[in-house]
Amino acid sequence: MYDTKISFENTEVAYASLSDKELKKAYWLFRMMSIPWLVNIGNSMITLCLKLNLPIQGIIKNMVFSHFCGGESLDESIPLIFRLKKSNIEVLLNYSVEGLEDTSGYRDTYEKTLNAIHFAKENPSVRAMCVKFTGYAHTDIWVKLQAKQELTPAEQQEFLQAKSYIEKLCSEAVDCNVHLYVDAEESWFQDSIDTLVDDMMEKYNKEEAFIFNTYQLYRSDKLEDFKKAHQRALEKGYILGAKIVRGAYVEKENDYYVKLGTKSPINNTKEASDREFDGAVRYAVENVTTISLCCASHNEASNKLYFELLTEKNIPLNHKHVNSSQLLGMSDNITYNLSATGMNTAKYMPFGPVKEVIPYLIRRAQENTSVEGQTSRELLLLEKELKRRGI
Ligand SMILES: Cc1cc2nc3c(=O)[nH]c(=O)nc-3n(C[C@H](O)[C@H](O)[C@H](O)COP(=O)(O)OP(=O)(O)OC[C@H]3O[C@@H](n4cnc5c(N)ncnc54)[C@H](O)[C@@H]3O)c2cc1C
Repeated sequence: MYDTKISFENTEVAYASLSDKELKKAYWLFRMMSIPWLVNIGNSMITLCLKLNLPIQGIIKNMVFSHFCGGESLDESIPLIFRLKKSNIEVLLNYSVEGLEDTSGYRDTYEKTLNAIHFAKENPSVRAMCVKFTGYAHTDIWVKLQAKQELTPAEQQEFLQAKSYIEKLCSEAVDCNVHLYVDAEESWFQDSIDTLVDDMMEKYNKEEAFIFNTYQLYRSDKLEDFKKAHQRALEKGYILGAKIVRGAYVEKENDYYVKLGTKSPINNTKEASDREFDGAVRYAVENVTTISLCCASHNEASNKLYFELLTEKNIPLNHKHVNSSQLLGMSDNITYNLSATGMNTAKYMPFGPVKEVIPYLIRRAQENTSVEGQTSRELLLLEKELKRRGI
């Protein structure tokens, strides 16, 4: 019988794997990120230095990259993967190079991802590879497909190539016993991604969930969609692989629909997104035998709810359909405290050359400045641990 209550306050557990030096560095980093003007100037300066080819990669790598990323290559990420494994935390790997919008870029992303799947086979604590379908064909193609517009012959060719990459990544993931998590993107082409992921799930998730779609609960239509996807899985006889998130593009989505002059699918309030997300958690727990869930969130209340529902229903915390995941370098108090109870947990770990990962790092800096309460929460916890250690 499990303890049905969880606390995310234990900083000794949360930061056990950090040395005093690393702890001080993390505190310093979050202090810097809590100052909006500094983040804005820092981001502009980094972009300018890179344009001028100034050698700033080393500084970025040491200051920010090392906190949020595994390494520049898979091999460089191994020590961190092992460190997490010691605390029974798995890894969701992501080759975080963005914006390579041409044939050779798509091929490169495909090859790096395939290589990472083989790497995961050799390193079983790497639970999954995370992919974005816009990494394999131009966004315009996904948009056109959703709008039911005809593709040009060249676009048709590019889409067929993308499908063949995706098909190969899925079958290779299954052969290597690795999961493939497909990220959710913007609403004006998400339907075309969903259609393809549904097909892949139908094909590969008969016995076990290998392929996962992502459901953004900041959309007012997504809880319903999530339930429909589950019904479809039941009818067709496969396990639904579901990563649930609130969603990363609130402003972009709202701006897009303001320009169009139509209503945005994003919930009107944060509370509504919280309600929908928790609704998805409840639904997934009720259907644990046929939904494999990755609860991808830094929200303490949602993770607490997930933990408590599982324990109340006596569902083993290490059930293969149970998982809670957070980004590397964020919310360690959630990941490590959940993991200490025996629950399946994972960290989303980006890897790639420093220069290419910078857009991801800039988003993390902005998020940690703008997300209400998140930075101050991280700072408070780091401060608490520094005090506890007397440093
Ligand atoms: C492992 C992992 C994988 C992820 N994969 C994806 C992905 O594939 N696609 C994706 O889009 N995101 C993804 N995210 C990011 C995620 O969507 C959130 O942006 C981020 O985790 C913050 O939400 P939260 O649940 O952690 O909690 P919180 O910090 O409690 O919530 C913040 C979120 O609430 C929502 N919100 C804030 N204000 C409002 C408002 N006024 N109205 C409505 N909603 C609001 C937004 O979604 C915002 O990001 C992923 C996150 C993790 C940890």
